[in-house]
This record gives sequence, C-alpha cells and structure tokens, in this order.
Amino acid sequence: MFGKQFRLFQLVGFEVKIDPSWIIIALLVSWSLSVGYFPHKYLNYSTRTYWLMGIAGAVGLFMSIIAHEMTHSIVARRYGIPIRGITLFLFGGVAEMDEEPKGAVDEFIMAVMGPISSAMIGLACYGIYLFGRYVGWPYPVSGVILYLAMINGLLAAFNLLPAFPLDGGRMLRAALWHIKGNLKWATRVSAGIGSGFGLFLIFYGVFHFITGQFIAGMWLFLIGMFLKNAAEASYQQLITLRTLEGEPLWRFMNTSPVTVPPNLTIDNLVEDYIYTYHHKLYPVVADGRLTGCITTRRIKEIPRDQWPHTTVDDVATSCNPDNTIGPDADATEALSKMRRTNSGRLMVVDRDRLLGIVSLKDMMAFLSLKIELES
Ligand SMILES: [Zn+2]
Repeated sequence: MFGKQFRLFQLVGFEVKIDPSWIIIALLVSWSLSVGYFPHKYLNYSTRTYWLMGIAGAVGLFMSIIAHEMTHSIVARRYGIPIRGITLFLFGGVAEMDEEPKGAVDEFIMAVMGPISSAMIGLACYGIYLFGRYVGWPYPVSGVILYLAMINGLLAAFNLLPAFPLDGGRMLRAALWHIKGNLKWATRVSAGIGSGFGLFLIFYGVFHFITGQFIAGMWLFLIGMFLKNAAEASYQQLITLRTLEGEPLWRFMNTSPVTVPPNLTIDNLVEDYIYTYHHKLYPVVADGRLTGCITTRRIKEIPRDQWPHTTVDDVATSCNPDNTIGPDADATEALSKMRRTNSGRLMVVDRDRLLGIVSLKDMMAFLSLKIELES
C-alpha cells in the first residue's frame, strides 16, 4: 500500500511480508485492546497487565491472519496457481497470486477455505478457553484466548460478506462466473458490491465518530476505505490483464532504444543520456551485442566523486531473467515481471541481440487506447 514491504520469514515455502501500514495497525490494535476492550471486560487489573494482554491479543490476531492467508496459499498451490508470498497490510492480508484462478470451481474452493480455517481456529481457541476456565487459568490469560476465539470467528464472518475482494465476494464472483461464463461481468458485479459496501462502512464509521464512538468509528472508516480501494483496484487489474492478454510485445515495443557503449564514464552517462532522455534503464551494447544494462538505481550506489573514473562496463548489471524478456512473451508476462521486479522497463532479447525495449508507460498508453476503442 505504501510501496516498500518488509520480509518477515518463510513458512512452508511462502514468504511472509508486512506492509509498513500494518505496523500502524498493530499499534492501533494493541492500544484499542489495552485501553478499551480488556479494561472494560476484565476489571481491576494493572495497566501493565492490560498492555501485556493487548500485545498478546495483537500478536495472536497477526498469527490468525497469517494462518488464514496460508490456507488460501496452500489450496492455490494445489491448484497450480503460483503464489509469490503473503503480505499483511492495513486490514488483513493478501496472498499474492501471479495469475487468476483458471476456473470458477477452483476459485470458489480457494476462497471458502480461508473462512473455514478461521472458523476452525476460532473453535479451537474457544475449546482452549473452556479448558482454561475449567482448570482455573488466571483471567488475563483466558481473556486473551477468548478474544482470539472471537476475533477468528469475526474474521470468518467478515470475510464471508459477499463484497469482492473479500472471500465471500470471491465466492459470489465464482458463482456468477459459473452461471454466465463471463468473468469480466462477474467481477464487475461483485466488485461493485464490494465498493458499495466499503462506502457504506465509511459513512457508518463517520456516523460513529460524530456520535462519540471514536475507536469503533475509526475502525469502520479504515476497513471501508480498504475495501472500497481493493474492490476498485481488483476490477481495474482484471480489465488490464484481460485487455493485454495475448498482445504481442512488438505492438508497443520501442525498436530503436537509446543504448550506451561500455566505455562511457558515469558522469558522461548522467549528463548525455540520463538528463537528456530521462530513462531509468539503458542497455549496454558493444559491436551489436547486448552485454548488460545500467540503471539509475545502480548509479546511485556509486559515490559521486567516482563518477569520472568509473565506466559503464565496471558497474553494469548483466542480463538476467529479471531485466530481459523473450520476443515471444505477451504483454501480461511483461507486466507481471515489471510488477515483481519493481521496474518500468524490460529489454526484449533474442539470445545476445537486443530487439527493443518495452516500458510500462508505453504499455499503459496502448492499454488506454485499446480500452477506448474496444469498450
Ligand atoms: Zn481470505
């Protein structure tokens, strides 16, 4: 959501990352629990105890969300859909799918497994809570477990709402897709409901805020914002992928890109190329052969006083699958590679020959023309 994500750990082959916005949420959750929820429910404990409960509750929530997303990811992997990793952000998490599910039934099962796992974790926590009460665990301990039982139940229920891209919305989309065989229409309808529901939560949150229920108001507002944006973004993404699917790269490839010779010094590169053409990536070509590329990202790592004594060849990045793409790839492959490597330009390469450059900017210009003419 804010761009940069932090890697946390690897779990059964999936990378778990957090968006910086989640840190704010983790603090807000701990705070809401420590000063609101727990003191209200369990009287006469120390501030320190409430904070320990609040932090334990937030960590438990965090793990519950990971378990939920992990279930989606494992099911997706079984259906052969590549999942890059799990990112936790504002409200909940997202399993990063590189592709859309191939069929309505697959999507339905992938979606429904998330709420099922949350419901089961909730029930398990409730069982542990009952056991704890029976053997006489102290209230601050069983209180946190009861909270986790409740929050997992809530997670299951909230995710079952038919508001895309929540799981229930995905299930609705799968059902509509199954009935009419039209994924675009099914996405438009379910994303419309998702966006509308988000808007409702935003207004409902504002209403709570005005009437003095600040914490509840704030949460409703944030969740509504998240949902509305996510619904709109998912629909946009689908339109983008559908429109670009199967489009060959030559339709928007620049076939005579600016290239640089390997013996050029960095100060000359910056002056004569970067400040002239304003690109962030330049292929390095010697005797008609592509030897690598130089990026502004790479140049930033070189101290300024070294620029006159350093040549492009000294610091160029070699060609690799992250900065190159074959001529037979289609636009969606280029797009997903750019997204994954966080770059806006790819070199189109046939063995060691540079055929051209595809840029995100040109691809988007093509996309908007195609949407304008064909829809
Ligand atoms: Zn889910």
